[in-house]
Amino acid sequence: MSLIENVPVEPQDARQESSDRAHRSNPRLSRDSLGNAAASSELSALLGKMKAAARKSGPPDYDTRIDHLDKLERMIIARKHDIAKVIGMDFGVRSKHESLLAEVMVVVNEIKHARAHLHEWMETEPREVSWMLLPGRAELLMQPVGVVGIISPWNYPVNLALGPLVAVLAAGNRAIIKPSELVPDTAELLKTMLTETFAPDHVSVVTGGIEVAEAVSLLPLDHLVFTGSTRVGKIIMKAAAENLTPVTLELGGKSPAIVGEGFSIAQAARKIMQGKCFNSGQTCIAPDYVMVPKGRADAFVEECKAAFASMYPLIQSNPDYTAIINDKQYERLQFALKDARERGAKIVELNPAKEELDPNARKMAPHLVLHAKDDSVLMQEEIFGPILPIRTYETLDEAIAYVNDHPRPLALYFFEHDQKRIDQVLSETVSGGVSINETMLHFAVEDLPFGGIGGSGMGQYHAREGFDAFTKKKPVFYQSRINGSALLKPPYGPKIDFALKMLLGK
Ligand code: NAD
Repeated sequence: MSLIENVPVEPQDARQESSDRAHRSNPRLSRDSLGNAAASSELSALLGKMKAAARKSGPPDYDTRIDHLDKLERMIIARKHDIAKVIGMDFGVRSKHESLLAEVMVVVNEIKHARAHLHEWMETEPREVSWMLLPGRAELLMQPVGVVGIISPWNYPVNLALGPLVAVLAAGNRAIIKPSELVPDTAELLKTMLTETFAPDHVSVVTGGIEVAEAVSLLPLDHLVFTGSTRVGKIIMKAAAENLTPVTLELGGKSPAIVGEGFSIAQAARKIMQGKCFNSGQTCIAPDYVMVPKGRADAFVEECKAAFASMYPLIQSNPDYTAIINDKQYERLQFALKDARERGAKIVELNPAKEELDPNARKMAPHLVLHAKDDSVLMQEEIFGPILPIRTYETLDEAIAYVNDHPRPLALYFFEHDQKRIDQVLSETVSGGVSINETMLHFAVEDLPFGGIGGSGMGQYHAREGFDAFTKKKPVFYQSRINGSALLKPPYGPKIDFALKMLLGK
């Protein structure tokens, strides 16, 4: 099997070995594929073919783009059960319903939204011209940027590969997708599905280890969308800078949830546990930690216990409760708990049936953490698992100050009914997105863009902003046959002096 279908071939055994190693949680699969130089030359050849094909066919018209979106939608719907199955294989256990909701439904809804608005998005936009340039006219022409690279992570491996692809295709581009090496079965399914659906010079999936992702990031692409950690995001931006490739960086970080003073603790606990337990907390916009009013932490713990027990009476055998992706991530989470415990935190395990959980199956009970020190791993790094530190605050100003003392989060959740307080939090904090009295659902609103700010990323996609991200809005000025531009050239005489006096004064 090759990185790409129509260029040289990686032996089947090598792929199998790569897959096996991924399951053994080795994050760096440096020798599983063709090595850097070979990967680079294959990818350069692929990019060359894509660019040549784009030049030959010109920008796709509205009907062609609708056809691409239709094909993508049919592909996803036809293979929805395969999608849920392979993600389950890669995770060990991944809730089938969560896969159908987050990987299939959300992407299908994005396609529907793009299809419904494509005509309006593609329209040339007339712009004003000042009286001096009349009767010339100006407009913005919507032009595809060309070939877009998509490097995606393991946690929502279909959504975060195909979601950007929706916007890339709607905007009339071609794409090279590199799925995470940590979900090899899903990566292979993506490759198979997209190879069956699109010509290889239109959409190609390249698989392999980190060296393949590195090679993608070094290509002279027309745009690169990277979804992953803030650490790797910095490496990607440096690599892309070599070619001045514009980047959209969809990164992670610590997304706070603040429970307002008058808000029902039970209701907030239910919503926060729902958001935290979806995909077992392995979600970029999962509530990372919560801030509750002073004196309410114990009540909040009790309500979290009740909320979790009502959603997940059992853990080990429960198909609704997703496993931690691999041993490395499982051990990272255990280490963060141990570190917090050693620094004096109080840890409450939510395990309604008091099950003995098998670490080899990587089902991890949620843990609530009280009094976690600010310098503990849990409060320094993105948690990305079912652990929820609980902090208390005395005034809303104090909670806002805590958020603002840390890198700008990808998401912020505020549980409050008082509009004044909501407005205060909205205006005094800066984050990628916000859900009020809810967690995570701003991601599912098709007409809202999605993207971080500062440490949580740059640029956005979804909705009109996704189309815009992969479109060159080319400014065009049409001069009219009769015009006054002669005034603007030397030798400058009394007429231009008079005009300048009228415009700028003496
Ligand atoms: P990661 O950064 O380790 O890897 C993401 C991708 O980058 C993978 O495909 C990997 O192959 C590639 N990669 C790794 N090292 C590379 C390098 N040196 N050069 C080029 N590519 C490289 O992230 P992950 O562990 O797969 O995903 C978890 C992270 O992603 C979390 O931080 C999470 O918050 C973030 N995330 C963000 C969003 C978002 O939309 N903002 C969504 C999901 C996940």
